[in-house]
Amino acid sequence: MSTDTEPAANPALTDPDSRIAVVTGASSGIGEAAARALAAQGYHVVVGARRVDRITALADEIGGTGRQLDVTDEQSVTDFVAGLDRVHVLVNNAGGAKGLDPVTTANFDDWRWMWETNVLGSLRVTKALLPALEASGDGLIISITSIAALEAYDNGAGYTSAKHAQAITHRTLRYELLGKPIRLTEIAPGMVETDFSLVRFDGDQERADAVYQGLTPLSAEDVAEVIGFVASRPPHVNLDQIVLKPRDQASARRNIKTG
Ligand code: NAP
Repeated sequence: MSTDTEPAANPALTDPDSRIAVVTGASSGIGEAAARALAAQGYHVVVGARRVDRITALADEIGGTGRQLDVTDEQSVTDFVAGLDRVHVLVNNAGGAKGLDPVTTANFDDWRWMWETNVLGSLRVTKALLPALEASGDGLIISITSIAALEAYDNGAGYTSAKHAQAITHRTLRYELLGKPIRLTEIAPGMVETDFSLVRFDGDQERADAVYQGLTPLSAEDVAEVIGFVASRPPHVNLDQIVLKPRDQASARRNIKTG
């Protein structure tokens, strides 16, 4: 393990035999579980998020490299990718939602946060790591979008528009990179019980808990298993898009509680 500010502090990062995976937003939820799943497959996992204490603890646990990362900050991304010359897997996971407001009362700060993080943040990290993904000879970009990238729902336009934009950027790259040794997989989960709702409702635990009461949501590990499956396919197999939802949820607008 190393939590470093200097490039290539961990010899695994420059060892030609090691397979490197990068997971953004690995300090909780899906990203944290994905980092564990990829480490269990033998990847040296570089984990990033703003809460560096959590990143350090996770890197310690999985024998990876922890680096602080704010995907909305150009310099932070530049520092995060320093010394990463060969990357086999990038999981663009950092993101989330803020608020649940109708368009008529849209909160611009919330919208800005969602677009900066989900859309421009994923773009920023992807751009920075494209040369390293190509240099690996077998690169894979996994974007965690959402069923919000496939549907619209009342009061959700800030998030659904951001997830649609993130997804379209990812799908465009699938076309633009044709012929290069880089695969692209979009994973679009439905309801997953993580800190997602706590962040969306600005720390209101009761409101966040209510989202998951009365049904069985997916767990972060359920999604991480799928990420692990994608990352363990042979280089000629490209899983383009995977949608996974709890049995109790039929769409963003319909679950066993709403009927
Ligand atoms: P989560 O537990 O809140 O995790 C979000 C992660 O993103 C955290 O590690 C957070 O770390 C990181 N993050 C947020 N802003 C960041 C920034 N500016 N720079 C770097 N990292 C940042 O929620 P989650 O459910 O695991 O969410 C992961 C992804 O899945 C998100 O893209 C979300 O939109 C998507 N998703 C979630 C669900 C769901 O129901 N939970 C469904 C579909 C899709 P720090 O705060 O430490 O920076």
